[in-house]
Amino acid sequence: MAASAQKKPATAKPAAKPTNAISAIREADIKRDLFGLAGDHFRGREGGTLDELKASVWLADQIRATGMLPAGDDGTYFQWFNLQRTRLSKSSTLRIGTHEIKLNETGAVTAPTNASVNAPLVFVGTGSPAELAKVDIKGKAVAVQISGAPTDGISYRRYVFGKFNGQAGELVKAGAVAVVFVSDAPSQALYDHWSHTFERGRYSLPGANNTKVVSTPPVVWLPASAASWVQQAGQQLTAELKVDSFQYPSVNIVAKMPGTDAQLKKEYVLFSTHQDHDGVRAPIAGDSIYNGADDNATGCAALLAIMRAFKQQPSRRSALFVYQGSEERGLIGSTYFSAHPTVPQSSIVAVLNAEMMGRNIADSAALLGSTPPHLNSSDLVKTALAANQAGPKFKLDTEWDKPTHPEGWYFRSDHLPYARLGIPAIMYTSLLHVDYHTPRDEPSRIDYAKLTRMTTWMYLTGWAVANRTAPPAREPGFKLER
Ligand SMILES: [Zn+2]
Repeated sequence: MAASAQKKPATAKPAAKPTNAISAIREADIKRDLFGLAGDHFRGREGGTLDELKASVWLADQIRATGMLPAGDDGTYFQWFNLQRTRLSKSSTLRIGTHEIKLNETGAVTAPTNASVNAPLVFVGTGSPAELAKVDIKGKAVAVQISGAPTDGISYRRYVFGKFNGQAGELVKAGAVAVVFVSDAPSQALYDHWSHTFERGRYSLPGANNTKVVSTPPVVWLPASAASWVQQAGQQLTAELKVDSFQYPSVNIVAKMPGTDAQLKKEYVLFSTHQDHDGVRAPIAGDSIYNGADDNATGCAALLAIMRAFKQQPSRRSALFVYQGSEERGLIGSTYFSAHPTVPQSSIVAVLNAEMMGRNIADSAALLGSTPPHLNSSDLVKTALAANQAGPKFKLDTEWDKPTHPEGWYFRSDHLPYARLGIPAIMYTSLLHVDYHTPRDEPSRIDYAKLTRMTTWMYLTGWAVANRTAPPAREPGFKLER
């Protein structure tokens, strides 16, 4: 039964608050849904592939079963968008001396580029000013040894990846026509873990800046096994690199539970997550399927449980549920939905984002967007902290929300595009772990009791926001550090 159709003056005594439906959130349901989504049959749900589409159809069926209404395009649960993918074509070739580099097997090119290079290779050690002073690199391909783990809090991954733009850019400015980075022993682990990501190329929405096909000098990354031969004098680097650029579809899944208050039902509390993961890749210990159980089947199962609670007991405001596609390809579904929402953008009063909620110590969790400069609604954060005290009582980690944290975790999930629009936005997470973005992120490694408590926390926050009379206040002067 809907509440009164007349808008009450703000000063009037509110109607008796409906009690929440926390009992509808059940660990057994969450576990079943997570095993269903993160099983090998969905092959890692890579954004822009049939696997993501199949998993999305399966999710829409589960959503329909909870009783949520479709809120995507044209009365469906789906909102379609195109990905623009830019990658090196398979016909590209690269040779150094007598070594033919098999791209994405024995070496990687770190950014797609159209380039035709035939130049002598010079080895410049670590590329220090003293070493560079000894050689003329103009018109040459330059080989650089990666070395030295950083000691000042920056992660080793960011340090190495930073070289692909930073140090390479300097060398190109000085006249290099190609740059070849060779791993040292410590960075070999990074090479093993991350070099295959370059095979995918770049993804974005059509027309975005990073889809422009460029013709810049190639930047190559080689494994540590190349360190001895790449230093030999008198070698030639020849490269014929070509870029493919094409579009294909990805999808957001959108559902809602209409609110009970005639006025407030026009406003939405948005529960956010992503359904995609990393697909099928080079095997690690014999397993090639990146199941993404924690990342992010936990968020997907949590939202289904929250839907059941809103079905059992609807709130005054409407609840909107958005599963965003192609998050792992660069927050693409959330960038699209936030710019083209299926409800008026101004009607979204808060975004509660679920990202990896089922690992690490049982009684610890984090709320990102709760510390300046990431804090864009202390009002919303206060509600979330009160919900934590009323429910799961997690000890909250505050380190990962700091702008100085090396992982920059705040910038790596779907609340971000909404926060950039000024919409109050927070992210619920149990943080990174050793199985992050590996085939070992499996359903058997999830702490289901913890995930259920994380789900409860999100629900209680959303429930409070959806029933209060005023929407969460926005922080004046909110400005992210990047
Ligand atoms: Zn994720």
